[in-house]
Amino acid sequence: MLSIVVPCFNEQESLPYFVKEVEKITSSISHSIEYIFVNDGSQDGTLKLLRELHHKMPNQVRYISFSKNFGKESALYAGLQASRGDLITVMDADLQDPPELLPQMIERIESSDIDCVGTRRQDRAGEPVIRSFFARLFYKLVNKFGDTEMIDGARDFRLMTRQMVDAILSMTEYNRFSKGIFSWVGFNTEYISYENRERVAGKTSWSFWSLFKYSIDGIVNFSDAPLTLAAFIGGISCVAAILALIFIVVRALLFGDPTTGWPSLASIVLLMGGLQLLFLGIIGKYIGKIFLETKKRPIYIIKETEKDVKKER
Ligand code: UDP
Ligand code: MG
Repeated sequence: MLSIVVPCFNEQESLPYFVKEVEKITSSISHSIEYIFVNDGSQDGTLKLLRELHHKMPNQVRYISFSKNFGKESALYAGLQASRGDLITVMDADLQDPPELLPQMIERIESSDIDCVGTRRQDRAGEPVIRSFFARLFYKLVNKFGDTEMIDGARDFRLMTRQMVDAILSMTEYNRFSKGIFSWVGFNTEYISYENRERVAGKTSWSFWSLFKYSIDGIVNFSDAPLTLAAFIGGISCVAAILALIFIVVRALLFGDPTTGWPSLASIVLLMGGLQLLFLGIIGKYIGKIFLETKKRPIYIIKETEKDVKKER
């Protein structure tokens, strides 16, 4: 069986298209299919639509509805936990992940030794220039300093074996960053690229600011390089300061002490103060993560699933 996990946040407009498109390809694959829709606290009619879908296709459509918006990462986790298939795919509801690729991905995973077929976009055409710039910068940074490789342009859309999904589920951390988790668990992943698509309907829930915060999370969750960097720069400025001190003392002894250099002194004090605050901030970020992690809060809270519908009737 193939499980299709779909996180949905305000997707009432895209969902009907999504199901229609996926149904078109189901005949060309030999697996039976189960949909697991995760309603991530949508404000629109998404939940109503999911109930109807389940009503129409009770054996194929399952859904989980959260008590509020927990974020896509939580929705993915819940969906994977609920999945029962031997092959599992995660797809966005907005058809930016083309279902036409599925047969090819299944064929690939079954005919060879790989555990995961991922997808990546060919290029960043059509994306705002600043956003591409920061995206590239992000991937360069994490791949240079982090231990977990993240592929530029890789989407969350992927097909995985049960074994790999179980490995992902065994990572129960609260601060979830899927791109890192997919890569951290290892296994053989192959990527196919396709041309980027626009959303079929509705609008993206990502602003530039939320993407920025997301990328900081990506770095902090999978690498302690910023801490090393802080210690490194701190060490270098200590050495530089000691050398400068020696130089000044020797100069004062040899040539007397004209009281000059206040502007440069003020700049140095400012620079050092700024560096200290910056690194305190970095350390604070990690402590914040530890704080949230030690609370051991649930990753999501379910309000309703398709089983509740059966009970009511
Ligand atoms: N999504 C979600 N919870 C959120 C935000 C998004 O479940 O808090 C879902 C959304 O419904 C969609 C997928 O995650 O199926 C990707 O979201 P979106 O299309 O907004 O992101 P983009 O494709 O622009 O990266
Ligand atoms: Mg999208």
